[in-house]
Amino acid sequence: MSSHNSSTKRTHIGVVGGGQLGAMLASAVLKAGHQITVLDPTPDCPAATVGAMQIEAGFFDSQNIRALVEQVDVTTVELENIDTETLNTLAQEGAPVIPQPSVVAAIANKLEQKQRYADHGLPTSRFEPMPNPSADGIRAFGLPAVQKAERGGYDGRGVALIRTESDLDDLLPGPSFVEGFVPHQMELGVMVAVTPDGESDTWPVAEMHFNPQGNLLDYLVAPARIPADVAERAQELAVSAVKAMGGIGIYGVEMFWSDEGELLLNEMAPRTHNSGHYTMDACETSQFEQQMRILLGLPLGPTTLNCKAAMVNLLGAQGFEGATVIEGADQFDDNPNVHVHMYGKHDCRFLRKMGHLTALGETVEEALERAQRAAESIIIRGANPI
Ligand code: ADP
Repeated sequence: MSSHNSSTKRTHIGVVGGGQLGAMLASAVLKAGHQITVLDPTPDCPAATVGAMQIEAGFFDSQNIRALVEQVDVTTVELENIDTETLNTLAQEGAPVIPQPSVVAAIANKLEQKQRYADHGLPTSRFEPMPNPSADGIRAFGLPAVQKAERGGYDGRGVALIRTESDLDDLLPGPSFVEGFVPHQMELGVMVAVTPDGESDTWPVAEMHFNPQGNLLDYLVAPARIPADVAERAQELAVSAVKAMGGIGIYGVEMFWSDEGELLLNEMAPRTHNSGHYTMDACETSQFEQQMRILLGLPLGPTTLNCKAAMVNLLGAQGFEGATVIEGADQFDDNPNVHVHMYGKHDCRFLRKMGHLTALGETVEEALERAQRAAESIIIRGANPI
């Protein structure tokens, strides 16, 4: 096993997961001259395409997770649905793992997460556990409501909006909980960094807009167009939420700014996040560089926003599948205001996250206009019409 003595300089990072988040971390790590190995079942996964070493194995392959942890100086994760038990055992044996596997496990269960916010007196919508979901139970809770699977949901999967009686016919099966629907003027995202010493920092608050079709993030602008005092409260709430989980590392915290002007926590991810991608091109220190800094025991970098930014996800086009075809992305190669990031995914399907772009501007409106125009001029699709 490589030395886990804290006085030894860490240079080799391991990641469970080698998708786009692992790839963007890998780029930052390799640029800084360090090493990175990812564990991912997809041959030549996105992180490998940018130069990370890869152990080809599944996220629940305990033997290979152990092999990964034993060959690196510090380990992190790119997703929550992984073998946290093995990681926890390794952490207890002394291997540095950031975020702590117990925190990842708690966050991976959305009900446990909600419960933790409530226990700490943090604002979140009213909720009730539903181990066996039933129309009567949800009716008794009151409509409109949102039913959420305890585990496994992401990008809108595992979330059922129940506005009216007729929606009660389409409940999610299995252990879940129901929460009050929050009428909101905006959804906000705050990225939080916490060091092992407990030092914390946030990036500017981002305004998030969702694609109603896929229920995944469509575009985002930073800074959010909200009063300064609301932004400050949002940052404080995000840090309190991460501290309530006891987390170290990088966290993406999502919340609602309700119609009444309240901030209510929605959920968090114990890792870099789509809502923080804009930091790569618009901030002094990106979420990925900060993650690397925390992993290697370096001091946090400044999170200052250098200009206004808008980020658009580049999703697979409808009507095609198969090998990825990208058209029009290279026109921005020399454009200082539009930065295109493709994820190196070999297969493309409708609504799959294939990349993102961030446009910069003097104003949020200018950045958003640039981003949307640029996104419309890029086509990403599978090679075969379906
Ligand atoms: P995911 O993990 O798939 O992102 P979320 O819990 O964030 O799931 O829910 C997806 C989206 O559904 C949210 O971004 C929001 O637009 C909407 N949503 C979720 N919960 C509520 C709620 N309680 N009130 C209003 N809208 C909600």
